[in-house]
Amino acid sequence: MSSSEYPTDPQCIFCRIIAGKAPARVRYESGQVFAFDDINPHAPTHVLICPKAHYPTFMEAPAEVLATLNAEIKSIATHLGFAERGFRLQVNNGRESGQIVPHLHYHFLAGRSMHDHG
Ligand code: AMP
Ligand code: ZN
Repeated sequence: MSSSEYPTDPQCIFCRIIAGKAPARVRYESGQVFAFDDINPHAPTHVLICPKAHYPTFMEAPAEVLATLNAEIKSIATHLGFAERGFRLQVNNGRESGQIVPHLHYHFLAGRSMHDHG
């Protein structure tokens, strides 16, 4: 799918990364989904997984986009080697959640014990 087929925001840092206009360590790419390393990792593996389409929040993303994202996250978890070992998914949504970047993304955190909920 080319960028002319989905909404983008030229001011958005994640849209710029997806378009190859800003640097990132890319971990996965498909027609609708893009994943790259978080610049400030909170775990040995901290990947941000987002739709290529620009939706500012989880609440604003269409259900079909969330369905695709969830399906591909399963593939990404396998691809990264954490399907059996385990991982945490976190989505910040909106003002009180701590969301900083207004382009929907899932934090994929793995590679350490998270029993402390930290
Ligand atoms: P959130 O609080 O859910 O909006 O999280 C935004 C995340 O994006 C943070 O964990 C940042 O470290 C990460 N981040 C911001 N800018 C970049 C960037 N240019 N490349 C990679 N990760 C980034
Ligand atoms: Zn964007």
